[in-house]
Amino acid sequence: MNEFIQPNITNGYENVKHVKRVDSLEIESLPQGQFSRLFIEIVENGIGRPIQVPVVVARGKKDGPLFGITAALHGNELNGIPVIHQLLQKINLKTLRGTIVCLVAANMPGLLEEKREFTDGQDLNHIFPGKPNGKISQVYAYNLVDRITQHFDFLVDLHTASEGRVNSLYVRADLKQEMTAQMAYLLRPQIIVHNPPSDYTLRGTAAEAGTPAITVEICDPAKFQRDPIARTVKGIRRILNHVGMIPSKATLPKTVTKPPILCKKSYWILTERGGMMRCIPKIADRFNQGDLIATQVNIFGDTIKEYRAPEDGIAIGHCINPIGQTGARILHLGVLMDEAERAKFESISGCSLDGTFCKIETPEG
Ligand SMILES: [Zn+2]
Repeated sequence: MNEFIQPNITNGYENVKHVKRVDSLEIESLPQGQFSRLFIEIVENGIGRPIQVPVVVARGKKDGPLFGITAALHGNELNGIPVIHQLLQKINLKTLRGTIVCLVAANMPGLLEEKREFTDGQDLNHIFPGKPNGKISQVYAYNLVDRITQHFDFLVDLHTASEGRVNSLYVRADLKQEMTAQMAYLLRPQIIVHNPPSDYTLRGTAAEAGTPAITVEICDPAKFQRDPIARTVKGIRRILNHVGMIPSKATLPKTVTKPPILCKKSYWILTERGGMMRCIPKIADRFNQGDLIATQVNIFGDTIKEYRAPEDGIAIGHCINPIGQTGARILHLGVLMDEAERAKFESISGCSLDGTFCKIETPEG
């Protein structure tokens, strides 16, 4: 079966047409032991019609935490949407403890316009927590938090690379926070980057309120990618099991996937000239200080610049658009943790990266 196609394809249109419209997320008003589909009104458009976001609430029969998953906060970053579809198909409401709230497309106007930004050109993930009486994107961001995400006890925010770039499957997380570090570990991505969140991101707003939160970058924009989607679904199930919401047979895939590479920070290598770029490392390739990582030619094909790695690192992501003005992004370089820093992560998270010990209980099965 094609896992991207919902089994209820014949009445899919009717399901959307009759989805309940509400002004805010009120969990207590929703039935336990059921899935609820909602369109939540966030703002009004220029003719006074509501701009709504699609939300699915899986409310278990048993009480427990409220686990939030958000996708497409950047409207062209789509891999998180089928992650939500596939995750929900696997949820058993009889055994679910607590509630999973999935904001399927957080930037609905951007999704419809197939672009990253909100309608006014603003990047929503740079303006949280927004303002109640601000500009249109600020009000939208404020209401997303006020009407939906402020209720979350945990947050997993699903993204991808931006247009013209590709990413590994990687997690950004504040690894100094125990539960956040455990969530990053359990997602089991290719790379984990220690990254205390900015105040202006959705993750930062959640963290500010004491909510453990991670950002998952699921590879490339504007497409559905089967393997990283499946891997992210498994990772979120492991987290749900860890926080006591699902009795899971999902185990740490010690032998299925390589342990994640830990980075203490990351930054972009930028062009110093204008010209056409060729990036040499592939995604998740490691390189040493001094290795050639990119070349740049002018319009006549003459090599005008070679770029060498300023330090040992790993390619978290890179540009695929060859045309680069001066200051264009070439390669997202992850700076690897040394042994002492890895040991610190292991002591905070309680998990060794090679799977030899883990204080998190993940039953085999
Ligand atoms: Zn994004």
